[in-house]
Amino acid sequence: MVKEYLHPNDWEKFKTFSDTKETPFLVVNLDIIKAKYSDLISNFPFAKTYYAVKSNPGAEVIELLRDLGSCFDIASIYELDRVLSLGVSPDRISYGNTIKKAEHVRYAYDKGVRLFVTDSEGDLRNIAKAAPGSRIFCRILTEGAETADWPLSRKFGCHPDMAADMIVLAKKLGLEPYGLSFHVGSQQRDIGTWNAAIAKVKYIFDWVSENEGIELKMINMGGGFPANYLSKTNELSTYAEEITRFLEEDFGENFPEIILEPGRSLVGEAGVLVSEVVLISRKSRTALERWVFTDVGKFSGLIETLGESIKYPVYCDRKGETEEVILAGPTCDSQDIMYENYHYELPLSLSIGDRLYWLSTGAYTSSYSSVEFNGFPPLKTYFIK
Ligand SMILES: *Cc1c(COP(=O)(O)O)cnc(C)c1O
Repeated sequence: MVKEYLHPNDWEKFKTFSDTKETPFLVVNLDIIKAKYSDLISNFPFAKTYYAVKSNPGAEVIELLRDLGSCFDIASIYELDRVLSLGVSPDRISYGNTIKKAEHVRYAYDKGVRLFVTDSEGDLRNIAKAAPGSRIFCRILTEGAETADWPLSRKFGCHPDMAADMIVLAKKLGLEPYGLSFHVGSQQRDIGTWNAAIAKVKYIFDWVSENEGIELKMINMGGGFPANYLSKTNELSTYAEEITRFLEEDFGENFPEIILEPGRSLVGEAGVLVSEVVLISRKSRTALERWVFTDVGKFSGLIETLGESIKYPVYCDRKGETEEVILAGPTCDSQDIMYENYHYELPLSLSIGDRLYWLSTGAYTSSYSSVEFNGFPPLKTYFIK
């Protein structure tokens, strides 16, 4: 099973490194991130990459991507401070959260950031005051919540007509209306959602040009590109071919500046989370399934198992006949169950003290781990090459 997710050499390297360490912990292989980055660049040679820092804010990851020439999408001034402290210049940073305090906009502006997202008038007016003259891009609502494993719709973005209004208002307020953005939802399995989003963008580009003489210059296509989990997706090259075709259909050969904000697709497959079985039990004399409790759970990095949205491949060293298990975490919270409806199978010989390996856990794990729920410390991360 492992070789569907990790090259045998990478698995060996990981095992050698991890075998003597005390669980739970995450191991991130930086070489895999490097390979993913060059894969992205060669599939989208016309795009500029802004790494979504929230997916894995490890300093080692940021340094690697800094040296590879990436730019960065930050969600808060705290991520901004981290990225700046690692020597990234502010002209490589985009403030990509539509929800932000005016004083945080000012802080970012004072540090040199000049590129901000918005999706509401209140935020736009704050930016005009706190970050005068900055470049603005407006995020639009998109479809695709049903086909994304971790949707980002509803909360972010505004209707295309309103986005057009915002672009016009941005200019009136002395800002530079620079472009539009969307995010079709993380781990988006339906590539067609980009087509619909790009069509909306094209409509707004044309509308503001014809009615207001504003020539927008940039499309920020967000993230949404896949990592390899149990549910299959297309290859990145298929995403790239299709999305490039959608852009060409709407914008011809010379399309605008294109920004991508990948998180999951760059770092997800680089991580293996190592846990230990704390307890195995049955709930009655005749119960068919076993409960397997591990020393990681929803509050120590596996929050994306909420609603069983992300289905990580789970592997153990034991072989032989398997049976259905319910996988749950170690805390005194009944929400701390990772998989109950989707049936994971593990060997009957699985025992207390055995290790379970959660593959493709490099994204949205360490950064989501709680600080001390039930007193458990945050998830430890090691970086290897
Ligand atoms: C979370 C986020 C991303 C990263 O999305 P992935 O699906 O992990 O690639 C990119 N852009 C914005 C604005 C985000 O909020």
